Amino acid sequence: MKERFVVIGGDASGMSAASKARRENPELEIIALEKSNYASYAACGLPYYIKGNVQDVEDLIAITPEVFRQKRNIDLRLQHEVIKIEPEEKTIQIVSPQGESTLAYDKLLISTGARAVQPPIKGVDSEGVFILRGIPDAVGIKEYLTRRRPQSVLVIGGGYIGMEMADAFYSLGMSVQIVELLPHLLNSFGSEISEEVENETQNYARLYLGHRVNEIRPDQPGRLSVYLSREVDRKEERVETEMVLIATGIVPEVTLAREAGIELGKTRAIITDEYGQTSIPDIYAAGDCAEVKSIVTNQNIYLPLALTANRNGRAVGSTIAGKKTPLTPVAGTAVVKLFELEVATTGVVNQEIARQYGFEPVKVTIESSTRAGYCPGAKPIKVSLVADRNTKRLLGSSMVGGEGVSKRIDIVAAALYGQFTVRQLENLDLAYAPPFSPVWDPVLDAARVLNGKLG
Ligand code: FAD
Ligand code: NAD
Repeated sequence: MKERFVVIGGDASGMSAASKARRENPELEIIALEKSNYASYAACGLPYYIKGNVQDVEDLIAITPEVFRQKRNIDLRLQHEVIKIEPEEKTIQIVSPQGESTLAYDKLLISTGARAVQPPIKGVDSEGVFILRGIPDAVGIKEYLTRRRPQSVLVIGGGYIGMEMADAFYSLGMSVQIVELLPHLLNSFGSEISEEVENETQNYARLYLGHRVNEIRPDQPGRLSVYLSREVDRKEERVETEMVLIATGIVPEVTLAREAGIELGKTRAIITDEYGQTSIPDIYAAGDCAEVKSIVTNQNIYLPLALTANRNGRAVGSTIAGKKTPLTPVAGTAVVKLFELEVATTGVVNQEIARQYGFEPVKVTIESSTRAGYCPGAKPIKVSLVADRNTKRLLGSSMVGGEGVSKRIDIVAAALYGQFTVRQLENLDLAYAPPFSPVWDPVLDAARVLNGKLG
């Protein structure tokens, strides 16, 4: 009998695993179960679909179910929700439009992703209140925008999704308000960078930093009152809006794993070994439901990003197909485009967190220019760089600027993989011509200043 590989969750990590397993082992029987009606979709493109940059939601489907079934010989079953894993029997329970069924597996991958956090706010189920996680959410938002034509939106959460969506709503001509619980937008990037983000965002949206939403109350069809309070003194305020987007973070979707007795980490995501195997043999996990190892601290962390999901899914697929492939540690490199800015981060930039991992962090923030100062189109850029005083090793960076940020953060990410000292970063021979950077690229500049501070 053929060995059977079953995948739970048909998006980035799950379908990467299934595809790689098929390439490595044509004999394997591969079944992928996805509870929604969509597989292999680009969640990252959803804000751009709502914004109108992507016309058709189907354009976000990377590989169609037909291609998986016919060309890759992967039995992809949509609208199939796994409701239980029974490790002793090596079976799973499924609910589908055909009813309940049991399926046996030899190897199992849990790639169930994450789900949006719903903060305890009264009235979150009111009409006009949305979250954004999958295609149905995006379609719902788009439908509401088309049908109701709201002129205003209040975004709860100034993190990645909140900021990308604030940009999208603004570009649709809406008046935007953002409520963020912490003192800063994109708080984890560090205050020096966040302050630039806030200066920029204020040109496009009304900000309520350090505020909490307590209640959303529908006044009349299409009009909502939102009751906020300021964290420092609990001062209350009522603001009006026609629509609300909740983007207050995500948590790993680990219900199946937990109920099956699979070990979870401190982050509440699934712990795996270096090949993605969980605490139960023959059950693997990858993507937004699993922890990953940090290249900087060598500790497990929760960093739910797309490349990690794709790459680790692929590694697990390869291992299951018989070619053992370890997972790759992550630097946690991310970039966001908002309004006229690019903002990016990699590694550990929060000094408090760095101390928790035993480092003695030293941080500098420099201001520079994205091109030679005399070159038309040059824009300001700010770079924060953090290193460990004792080893002089680079720990992380955040940047904000008008252009060229996404590729500059990649320089630092590569340096983190090389376990570079700040001196090694400073000595890199980077490309220079006036339309692309000053002679001393801002990254080199920051490294030079940090070196001086490290002594
Ligand atoms: P998911 O994509 O969440 O897929 C999990 C799948 O499992 C889902 O399809 C779900 O329906 C299915 N499932 C869950 N439970 C079951 C069950 N019991 N039975 C069957 N199926 C089940 N990352 C970046 O790096 N850059 C970006 O720009 C970026 N932008 C983003 C924008 C948005 C709006 C969102 C929501 C995310 C964004 N991300 C971005 C994050 C990125 O999309 C995720 O890291 C990635 O999708 C994770 O892939 P995954 O396969 O692990 O999980
Ligand atoms: P997030 O963690 O980036 O941001 C959530 C924000 O909501 C935080 O700033 C948090 O302080 C705030 N918040 C939490 N509770 C709140 C409350 N009650 N009231 C007001 N604010 C509150 O999460 P997200 O924006 O939902 O994004 C989810 C994940 O998707 C991210 O962690 C990221 O991994 C991924 N993502 C990445 C990109 C990218 O790389 N460009 C884009 C979108 C999403």
